[in-house]
Amino acid sequence: MPFDIDVHERAVYREPAPIDRDDPFQSMMERFDVAAEILELNPGFYEYLCRPSRMHITSVPVEMDTGQIMVYEGYRVIHNDVLGPSKGGIRFAPDVTLNEVKALAAWMTWKCALLGLPFGGAKGGIVCNPEQMSAKELERLTRRYTADLFDVFGPDKDIPAPDMNTNEQIMAWVLDTYSMHARRTENAVVTGKPVGLGGSEGRQEATGRGVMTVTLAAMERLDLAPSDCTVAVQGFGNVGATAAELLAAQGCTVVAVSDITGGYYNEKGLDINELRNYTQKNGGTLDGSPNADRITNEELLTLDVDVLVPAAKEDQIDAEIAEGTGARIIVEGANGPTLPEADEVLQEKDVLVIPDILANAGGVTVSYFEWVQDRQGFFWTEERVNRRLDRTMREAFEKVYETAEEHDVSLRIGAYVMGVRKVAEALRMRGIYA
Ligand code: GLU
Repeated sequence: MPFDIDVHERAVYREPAPIDRDDPFQSMMERFDVAAEILELNPGFYEYLCRPSRMHITSVPVEMDTGQIMVYEGYRVIHNDVLGPSKGGIRFAPDVTLNEVKALAAWMTWKCALLGLPFGGAKGGIVCNPEQMSAKELERLTRRYTADLFDVFGPDKDIPAPDMNTNEQIMAWVLDTYSMHARRTENAVVTGKPVGLGGSEGRQEATGRGVMTVTLAAMERLDLAPSDCTVAVQGFGNVGATAAELLAAQGCTVVAVSDITGGYYNEKGLDINELRNYTQKNGGTLDGSPNADRITNEELLTLDVDVLVPAAKEDQIDAEIAEGTGARIIVEGANGPTLPEADEVLQEKDVLVIPDILANAGGVTVSYFEWVQDRQGFFWTEERVNRRLDRTMREAFEKVYETAEEHDVSLRIGAYVMGVRKVAEALRMRGIYA
């Protein structure tokens, strides 16, 4: 009976895999393992919860503008749907891997559970370079991927959303393609879509706004006034730029931001609105931004600031960067920006790390509000959305903080403990269907 095996006996019958610290799935597992020990998770549940429930891999043929046919690899990983339909974004990037999507899907499971949303976790990805594709090519790619996964998606089954390099327009194409196949308009099948198609007010800013809310909560805990705090933000996409703008509006001095072209620094503070306008006129990048000195990515991550917001991608903060950082608070706008080896260093240095599954949960929280609005056919004001989002994020922050104190662990492990416990409790109540 596997259920009678003590959790510590796992090592006896299962060879531990060699650790590859740049593998996001292993990064997830290292933290999951700690939470599982604390929770004394039933070993059978452990085996079930650390694996994705289903993984879909599809070859997506696309006719390019030249007439040539290219085939792209697409993924959709459903990590877990014990708490409800699975939820998670779709990312487009040349270096997406199945393992990365597996990790991102698992993070969605813990994130939704931690926030108390009635969703499981999923993630999708397509290996492509959206920068080199025309709008029409991206549309054909999105539509064919959606058609391929028609049986997987659904408002009661699996609900995609934007992620890295995907946006409202792409979600509109997902909605339309799904609806054409379903032969009815089904706006609750996707979130992060335009407001004119049943999207929610406040969804686009939601992740950045959530980052701001938990940053303010952390500042309060450390007795810091926003107007005394300096901030550096890695990444100037939807999450990074919004977080920078909202933190500046709270009185913080945002001294550095970055994108793929590098970092931009001004010790007196950057004008984020001006930078956003500049990127719009400059083909989407910060390259050549006025009133800022150029710095490297590494320099940005090791600046002497009060708050560092990594809002770019995974695996950015290793042990060396963690040693070098001058930040007192790190708020993970991105998923998985910190390696497990860096966790230890940051904890020793007493840096307060607000982990990804809490810090960037504002996006999926408003996705939930969007799904609820679509299903009710009743839409909320932006003020109502923001008020509920702020409250949800605040409460989640306080609960994670308390859980971490209770077990004498980092906020990250506290967040995993909360998320994993919630899913395990639901699994216990539902039982294993034979
Ligand atoms: N891609 C976002 C995330 O990583 C949002 C997912 C969603 O709204 O479903 O949390």
